[in-house]
Amino acid sequence: MFTTCKHPLMSRSILSGGLHSEVDGAGGSGGLMRGIVLSVLFFWLVGSATAVAEPCPGNADALGTSRVLTISPSDYHRIGTMQYSKTLPLNDHEVVITFDDGPIPPYSNVILDTLASQCVKATYFLVGEMARAYPSIVRRIFNEGHTIGTHSQNHPYAFQRLAMPRFEQQIDGGIASVNAALGDPKALSPFFRIPGLGRTSAIEDYLASKSLVTWSADVVADDWKHINAKEIVKRAMRRLEEKGRGILLLHDIHPATVLALPTLLKELKERGYHVVQVVAAGERPESLPELVASPDTKETWPRVVQTKTTHDKAAKTTLRHRPKKAITGKHRRPNMASLHEANQNRLGQDWRQNQF
Ligand SMILES: [Zn+2]
Repeated sequence: MFTTCKHPLMSRSILSGGLHSEVDGAGGSGGLMRGIVLSVLFFWLVGSATAVAEPCPGNADALGTSRVLTISPSDYHRIGTMQYSKTLPLNDHEVVITFDDGPIPPYSNVILDTLASQCVKATYFLVGEMARAYPSIVRRIFNEGHTIGTHSQNHPYAFQRLAMPRFEQQIDGGIASVNAALGDPKALSPFFRIPGLGRTSAIEDYLASKSLVTWSADVVADDWKHINAKEIVKRAMRRLEEKGRGILLLHDIHPATVLALPTLLKELKERGYHVVQVVAAGERPESLPELVASPDTKETWPRVVQTKTTHDKAAKTTLRHRPKKAITGKHRRPNMASLHEANQNRLGQDWRQNQF
């Protein structure tokens, strides 16, 4: 069971615009009346699914968010055609934009700026340790109207190989960390995306037992594969055109994704796509108290590396911007983006072998 409704911020729809186009196509008064009747009937039937966003302040050409789709975890256990038979009930040319692996400054902040400039609402799957490191960004994501789900505590490599207690700890730990950052459990949606999409039946059963919706995806843009921004846009659009609609998986931790997003949103608009925001049934707070950002979140982007005077200084500058280093400095494993990439590359082959 799902419901559609207009976003609370969107009080207007395009019904009048659509009606005029129907009327213009009808000939004579009989045709006019017939056109009006047919138009009213058409929009009565599908009006809630074709509502278009309220004009975006300061951006008349914004892509916007066309509607909000509310789903209940009891009705949607697993979604995304990359791995499952079921996905979200989207209409043709509707897209749900999702971001995994963050938050991480400065990239997540620039992504948020871009989304805000286009009044686009997305769904985030946050990593617990990242949320604990950057709670101010977590709250910003929520306060700017996006949906927040989780993506494990540490984004371990080969999630599907974790033994029972460990994947439970990863799932529960990620939720606890993001809840701690949000400060209100009602702000977190019961949505989970398995790291690297490394599913097993045991993991899925556990997620279902906790009333979590397991999100796979319909379309990926390969933005973890060190391709450039132009290629990310190209792959995202090509695959979306093939499917006609779907859940698009992106990562807000990669510079190329940051660079690609403005063009991607422009392309979506030009090719007639509509953004749908997905929220879980139930109440959520209107807003959360803002937190003072850590010094890292004040970084600007693109970064300008200062003139290097010694090799040591240059090395320090580089290390400061490694995601893992930025979190605690205690972890011995390589940075999470690299881990994710390795994981996804390997699993990507599995998908091609098993799913496509
Ligand atoms: Zn991930």
